[in-house]
Amino acid sequence: MHTDANTIAGLLQAVFGEDITTAPRTCQSCRQEHPIGAHPVYEGAGWVLRCPNCADVAGVVVEHRERYAITLHGTWYLGQVG
Ligand SMILES: [Zn+2]
Repeated sequence: MHTDANTIAGLLQAVFGEDITTAPRTCQSCRQEHPIGAHPVYEGAGWVLRCPNCADVAGVVVEHRERYAITLHGTWYLGQVG
């Protein structure tokens, strides 16, 4: 049972300070690039984002000591230069 990253867009926005669902990410395993919002999300003790192509782990978000603990894999293209 999973949804996609758009369902945790609010959480991601709180963490990164911007809407990152349209931001691209390059997978560390298959090297494909997909928008972060297109990544399937598996909810359990936290949230696990997986690559839409190869299903390798793209990122893990858990709540820990009243903060979000984030582990990212691959390359996330965030922010705006200039
Ligand atoms: Zn992949």
